[in-house]
Amino acid sequence: MTGLLDKRKFYIDGAWVDPARANDLEVIDPSTEEAVAVISLGDQADTDRAVAAAKAAFPAWSRTEPAERLAHVQKILDIYQRRAEEMAWAISHEMGAPQDMSLDDQVAAGSYHIQNFITAFKDFQFIRPLGSHAPASMIAWEPVGVVGLITPWNWPMNQVTLKVIPALLAGDTCVLKPSEIAPLSSMLFAEILDEAGLPKGVFNLVNGDGPGVGTQLSTHRDVDMISFTGSTRAGIAITKAAADTLKKVVLELGGKGANIVFADADDKAVVRGARHCFYNSGQSCNAPTRMLVERSVYDRAVETAARVAQETQVASAHQPGRHIGPVVSRQQWEKIQDLIQQGIDEGARLVAGGPGLPEGVNRGYFVRPTVFADVSTDMTIAQQEIFGPVLSIIPFDTEEQAIGIANDTPYGLTNYVQSQDGAKRNRVARRLRSGMVEMNGAPRGAGSAFGGVGMSGRAREGGVMGLEEFMDSKAISGWGID
Ligand code: NAD
Repeated sequence: MTGLLDKRKFYIDGAWVDPARANDLEVIDPSTEEAVAVISLGDQADTDRAVAAAKAAFPAWSRTEPAERLAHVQKILDIYQRRAEEMAWAISHEMGAPQDMSLDDQVAAGSYHIQNFITAFKDFQFIRPLGSHAPASMIAWEPVGVVGLITPWNWPMNQVTLKVIPALLAGDTCVLKPSEIAPLSSMLFAEILDEAGLPKGVFNLVNGDGPGVGTQLSTHRDVDMISFTGSTRAGIAITKAAADTLKKVVLELGGKGANIVFADADDKAVVRGARHCFYNSGQSCNAPTRMLVERSVYDRAVETAARVAQETQVASAHQPGRHIGPVVSRQQWEKIQDLIQQGIDEGARLVAGGPGLPEGVNRGYFVRPTVFADVSTDMTIAQQEIFGPVLSIIPFDTEEQAIGIANDTPYGLTNYVQSQDGAKRNRVARRLRSGMVEMNGAPRGAGSAFGGVGMSGRAREGGVMGLEEFMDSKAISGWGID
């Protein structure tokens, strides 16, 4: 086992403990295809032990003063920022984010969310009057209980902080099951929480896969809520598994974002959209993977997007620079190759990239940034989430048609609109069926909720709504006002 990091333990009840039964899994570095660490996949006994610790910790933690929980989270943020380099290393090696991007974007996303939760929590009203029409009616916000948190590999700390931090602030206790493909960042996060001195049992981590620990948490009678980010397939499985115990289930799933580029869009719109699609090697649920372009500027947009793809450098995560890295695993690489081939077979026009490894590369899960033009909505590449650096360009003639194409997907996470006409942008934004609409490259304001509709799930993560997600509301009447 020389050279491999030994990460076989779980964090349960305030201590690093051995798994009940040995069941090793290697963590593969997608840049080299070599193992960097070994973890354990937990089984029922480990899950039970972690849930029992969380359940035992709940009564005391849920009754702590909000200020005490806030102080813990502030400490977590300080330690997280101090250990940023270590975190960047872990993320680069487990899922292939290039080292600079890992530090500047992946790790920073975690700090950003923790900071935003701190801000939202400072003004959070745990008990609020219903309104002047009912002076003795109050709405109280209370923790849900023991929460199971299941996360994917593509933005590991983004997703973990969007779940663990509001759970802690709400007064919940939790069991985190990170992606078995990218568990190292979460194990470091557990060390950070340990160093911050959280009471034992408030936060627990058990590694495992979907059929194992994921399902055990979803069916567990002592787990009150599951917050999940990942594929629509797993979201459906979790919903079904959680039905018998009637848990609260909150899902953040896939997407197939449309980016509507009108003829009056600013001249950076196509470059911005293509770069965003390739960012993180296309492995973002909110990626603008369908570019809908008004016919009069279509040919120019196709040329520009193809040039962006050709100029996008693909290289090892362990090199400095702003290139994109590999995709996460052989399985994802093969799935992306199949979808690129299907695009060609179904008659889309390949204008950049294509199947196979980039030139000169013979190991690592690298994908050529790829652009298809003349895509129609019935093609597989226009309907399925590819989760690789693959852009599909679709022409349109009218605003009505663009809205129709954008909404022609079972997903509904983020859509994008590019136009210099404010009234048109606002009109279109209101008609797009999605949890978020980003226009002209303006970032969503801090504290606005991340989440979707339809097959993208209906979670609302971040800010005040993201805190309320981890609580139940209670309506109280006859409130003493004398
Ligand atoms: P995945 O669904 O296979 O795995 C995600 C997590 O769920 C992992 O921890 C996995 O072990 C677990 N899991 C898998 N099957 C399970 C089951 N039956 N029961 C319980 N847990 C189970 O997804 P992935 O491949 O890791 O991530 C990629 C997918 O996640 C993409 O489809 C992407 O769009 C989606 N995603 C969505 C968001 C969002 O915020 N909407 C964010 C990131 C990723």
